[in-house]
Amino acid sequence: KDAITIIGGGLAGCEAAWQAAERGVRVTLHEMKPHVWSPAHHMAGLAELVCSNSLRGESLENAVGLLKEELRRAGSLIMAAADATRVPAGGALAVDRELFSAFVTERIENHPLIDLVRGEVTDIPSEGIVIVASGPLTSDGLAERIRAITGPNLYFYDAIAPIVTAESLDMTKVFRASRYGKGDSDDYLNCPLNQEEYEGFVDAILAAEKVPARDFEKVVHFEGCMPVEEMAERGRETLRFGPLKPVGLADPRTGEEPHAVVQLRAENRDGTMFNLVGFQTKLTYPEQRRIFRMIPGLENTEFVRLGSMHRNTFINAPALLAPTFQLKGDARILFAGQITGVEGYVESAGSGFLAGINAARLVRGEEPVVPPFATALGALVTHITNADVKHFQPMNVNYGLFPPLEGKVKKKERRGKLAERALAELDRWIETL
Ligand code: FAD
Repeated sequence: KDAITIIGGGLAGCEAAWQAAERGVRVTLHEMKPHVWSPAHHMAGLAELVCSNSLRGESLENAVGLLKEELRRAGSLIMAAADATRVPAGGALAVDRELFSAFVTERIENHPLIDLVRGEVTDIPSEGIVIVASGPLTSDGLAERIRAITGPNLYFYDAIAPIVTAESLDMTKVFRASRYGKGDSDDYLNCPLNQEEYEGFVDAILAAEKVPARDFEKVVHFEGCMPVEEMAERGRETLRFGPLKPVGLADPRTGEEPHAVVQLRAENRDGTMFNLVGFQTKLTYPEQRRIFRMIPGLENTEFVRLGSMHRNTFINAPALLAPTFQLKGDARILFAGQITGVEGYVESAGSGFLAGINAARLVRGEEPVVPPFATALGALVTHITNADVKHFQPMNVNYGLFPPLEGKVKKKERRGKLAERALAELDRWIETL
């Protein structure tokens, strides 16, 4: 009765199990390997890194570096494993994936309050506290049961368009307007292209290097979320009739519709980040940086994240989850990991950390908690549970998600100050737990 069921022994599930067990709560952790395998998992151990062996940047100048430091200070198992098994990787924290998985597996298997059960779970227990942490490649049987809870708010592919910072746009070229003046005219920023610019842009996309799809990712894309390069391949005018459609978007400086328009839509409520509407893509990252900076107004833009398209099982978190990671419709069920719409190894571990703490608190009759907004974990959680429900796509941690600093701070000092504030708030928060 007083146990937590966790489905999935990946980065999130293991972190959640550890946090709950360390708080004196019994945990049953289910992992389907080695009986059933996702198309990307190959090692029998827990917390398998399915692709890169890097947990990304270490520096606090990088929000993922800050998130790692927060998790480290908060007693994360995944960070202890990473620090113990690191390999030289310049400014990044990379690990020996075999040793990393072995470290986590050994800790989980030997914890007196954790029972590790190997085998696929195809139903969500109807009683007790449950954490669903089955990852981006959740097995089909379980996905069907999750869909019974989420309805259409469960997705199997992401379609991520690049996101840029508002302050890096050249507003002498960009104009605010929504199509035909409908809605709030501040809703969209528009980058006008003349014919020559449009033709050059199409040529660049056609010639660009693309990331090859993995075997299990070869899908027919829905019309509504086709990669921008695939649209360009259909014909030179396809983009102008698709996401670059200029109709109803007269440039106030000329009074005329440009030849083509790239629209930017606010990504967060503060309007500090914008996404390139319809620019989901499989172009390589260097090609995206080069080609998307050809768009007038984006010449010097700072990308908060680049576009991508993956096989990725995730829920519409802003519609379904409270910031405690409990389901709004059934508070005894929590979600953690990539399936919540966080993106990345460290982000998945971070969400597992929060879900594990909160599951334990629920068992112990305590109020679940939410990390402070000014921390990396808090900023990420706040974003994924407050983002626009209609356009929700997974997000990795970045400084664009943080509440702005008070007063004027020089740009080159900003990240350092955000990190300083975050760690001070985190330390205070940990004290209260
Ligand atoms: P996982 O680590 O995948 O853990 C989920 C676990 O649940 C798995 O062990 C799985 O076997 C198990 N499971 C699934 N269904 C069931 C079930 N029904 N019953 C019992 N167990 C079940 N992020 C990065 O930061 N860097 C990368 O390089 C990177 N590469 C990626 C490559 C691929 C192909 C994919 C799909 C994702 C990648 N990600 C990457 C994104 C993400 O960070 C990782 O997938 C991360 O492992 C997610 O953590 P998780 O705990 O949510 O899921």
